Amino acid sequence: ARDVTETRRNQELLREALQREQLAVDHLRALDDAKDDFVSTVSHELRTPLTSIIGSIELLEDGMAGELLPAQKQMIDVIERNAERLLSMANDLLTLASYESPSAPVTHLEPLDVRTVVQASHASVIGLLSSRDLKLSEDLPAEPVLVDGEAAYLERALTNLLSNAIKFTRDGGEITTTVSVDRDAERCRLSVSDTGVGIPEDEIQNVFQRFFRSSNVRADAIQGTGLGLSIVRSIVERHHGDIDVHSNPGQGTTFTITLPLASGVRTD
Ligand code: ADP
Repeated sequence: ARDVTETRRNQELLREALQREQLAVDHLRALDDAKDDFVSTVSHELRTPLTSIIGSIELLEDGMAGELLPAQKQMIDVIERNAERLLSMANDLLTLASYESPSAPVTHLEPLDVRTVVQASHASVIGLLSSRDLKLSEDLPAEPVLVDGEAAYLERALTNLLSNAIKFTRDGGEITTTVSVDRDAERCRLSVSDTGVGIPEDEIQNVFQRFFRSSNVRADAIQGTGLGLSIVRSIVERHHGDIDVHSNPGQGTTFTITLPLASGVRTD
């Protein structure tokens, strides 16, 4: 009889512990939601004054308030660069909060050809290559590669990877987007390789963290918010995929996105 009482008591303790844990989880989830709400409200509120600041700076640059002295022009340039940086940070935070929020509209997934995503993303980064000596190429399968996805999101992810590759590769370098299919695993791989500055080995595990920027790019004064890869990762997660990175400092970096193939497209 003592054993039975003890078992009952233990079960009760276990139930209480589980209840406490559930309450703690609910509480943390509510806090996380409140944080997302806060971040998106603040980012949104920051955008209006920043847009107005940038507009006024442009008017000053256009001579609306008279001819500027060289020293004034220089200062206006600094103000403009930093205001634009703040605006892209606010925009990136807003994007990230909207992708990560549990109440965000679920990405509308439908079968699409990954090759089309690559072509659209390459077209959208052409502008970044205009004053650069970089070779951008793509290596795509001859057959369509169908995944369940939302084109705008996947293009955004790939464009982020490509603009990083462009930003962190010196003139004379090469950037290649490759798509390959593993029918057995029912997955496809989408990778962007560059011959750029690379990421220091002891920092690589941090690249997907918000605001992270590696020491070599900070030393080179290359601009950025450190939010681009967090956005890529949340898009990939929304597509039930994975993202991975390999890098050789001084030689180059490869980011690889793996996505499940659309159901029912196995050819065998
Ligand atoms: P941002 O590019 O705005 O700094 P990201 O989140 O896109 O922010 O990238 C975070 C950091 O990861 C970059 O600052 C850089 O240190 C490193 N990184 C990303 N892509 C590359 C790349 N292709 N080559 C070298 N470093 C990279």
